[in-house]
Amino acid sequence: TSGAHVPALVIGTGYGGSVAALRLAQAGVDVHMIEMGMAWDTPGPDGKIFCNTREPDHRSYWLRTKSKAPLNYFLGFPIDRNISRYTGILDAEDFSGITVYQGRGVGGGSLVNGGMAVTPRRENFGAVLPSVNAAEMYDIYYPRANAGLGVNSVDPAWFDSTACYQYARVGRKHAQRSGFPFVFVPDVYDWDYMKQEAAGTVTKSALAGEILYGNNHGKKSLQQTYIARAKATGRVAISPLHKVTSVAPAAGGGYTVVIDQINTNGDTTATKTVTADRVFFAAGSVGTSKLLVKLKATGALPNLNDEVGKGWGDNGNVMCGRANHMWDPTGSLQSAIPCSGIDNWAAGGAFAEVAPLPTGIETYASFYLSITKNPNRAQFSWNAATGKVDLNWQTSWKQPSIDMAKTIFDKINSKEGTIYRTDLFGTYKIWGDHLTYHPLGGAVLNKATDNYGRLTGHPGLYVIDGSLIPGNTSVNPFVTITALAERNIEKIIATDL
Ligand code: FAD
Repeated sequence: TSGAHVPALVIGTGYGGSVAALRLAQAGVDVHMIEMGMAWDTPGPDGKIFCNTREPDHRSYWLRTKSKAPLNYFLGFPIDRNISRYTGILDAEDFSGITVYQGRGVGGGSLVNGGMAVTPRRENFGAVLPSVNAAEMYDIYYPRANAGLGVNSVDPAWFDSTACYQYARVGRKHAQRSGFPFVFVPDVYDWDYMKQEAAGTVTKSALAGEILYGNNHGKKSLQQTYIARAKATGRVAISPLHKVTSVAPAAGGGYTVVIDQINTNGDTTATKTVTADRVFFAAGSVGTSKLLVKLKATGALPNLNDEVGKGWGDNGNVMCGRANHMWDPTGSLQSAIPCSGIDNWAAGGAFAEVAPLPTGIETYASFYLSITKNPNRAQFSWNAATGKVDLNWQTSWKQPSIDMAKTIFDKINSKEGTIYRTDLFGTYKIWGDHLTYHPLGGAVLNKATDNYGRLTGHPGLYVIDGSLIPGNTSVNPFVTITALAERNIEKIIATDL
């Protein structure tokens, strides 16, 4: 309610926000979490909370009237369809040179992501977070994050026999025949549940194309892990469909936070003002960067330093498909949860997930999301004329990612006598180079903040999400975001409270 006072206010309910809320609550601090997306706890008219990728409806996209699927063509035909405008779960946020996909709702990106829970190789960590003690991360905080998230791995014997991972076995065969290391990738999906899906004894989720717009079963999103534990403390309240628009020093100490309440059409129905002793920015790389850049430029938080808005990267994401021979089918039944990758990071700067194409029909396609060592970094800036925050990423900055992904797929194509698919991202377009799933940076650790996420110039303000990470994690990012949040909140609780 307007006028209220809270000890700790957390902006956003993704990985960073959920870790902060749980640990603060356990330390005896009352926490209020503000989330612009929906609660995603109530079934729709079809009895399901989430829709699947084959039949996207109003629940799929954040305030769009047409779906905007990452893979937007098939056999050269556009596949996007009209939907009614709604505060749906997946935001395809357009900047001039890139579309940034993000989860919207209580649980943030954990609602929409593939659940791939990857700890970077230790030898790569120094490049990921140069100012962080690696020994502490690998001895304490990565294990804590993996436990808290419920990370587990596919049973290799089942993987070898189940129809739903034929596509991944084809991916393994092709990787190994070209001499690339093939690795299993841990996930937060409940693998026992998936086994039962395959056996036909439970309602299908991963095996029914549920990914991107939420999973109704099987996937342990933050709602089932950190947020459930945070709520169980009795000290954490969550306000969905509330969007923070301003944070500024309050006259009597602490901060004044301005919050718009919105309806499912995205319209503001009320504006509330509360005060908080401490504010944790956990709105995701884009959400936190946009807020901080605006608040610095408009004078609400004048003491923020010039690093705010800088160091943003796309984790080197680039997608592609390969056309297999007719004797190498990838299967009509594909688990929507990826479980494997091709590791050519050291030699070629690319780690490629063997991704599903869960269309329900045989496509003879192998599909990959590559994470690459793309060195380009973009900056957010305030545009006073439009009243919006711009990002100066350019599409051509993906070229290093394409070159790195090619170190894997040119070789596989030449070995297998196959070609790239040209029908998945347009007509005669090979590379999905217009998007990222992994926005990182914008309020980089030890630059915009101190080495634990304390924002410079404004005591009591913290950043605790993916914006702390300078643009790349060498693998999928959420385990690193969670582990870093565990490290930082421990220090903050011990020294600041
Ligand atoms: P987020 O999880 O993005 O949470 C931020 C929250 O803040 C959101 O809920 C947002 O709605 C809310 N918010 C933003 N602004 C405001 C505001 N002003 N007021 C109130 N609330 C606000 N990563 C992996 O590691 N493995 C994967 O398999 C994987 N697959 C992915 C697949 C897809 C389709 C996508 C989109 C992402 C995927 N990711 C994956 C990336 C991963 O989900 C993100 O890196 C992660 O969610 C980022 O965590 P975060 O805490 O920084 O922020």
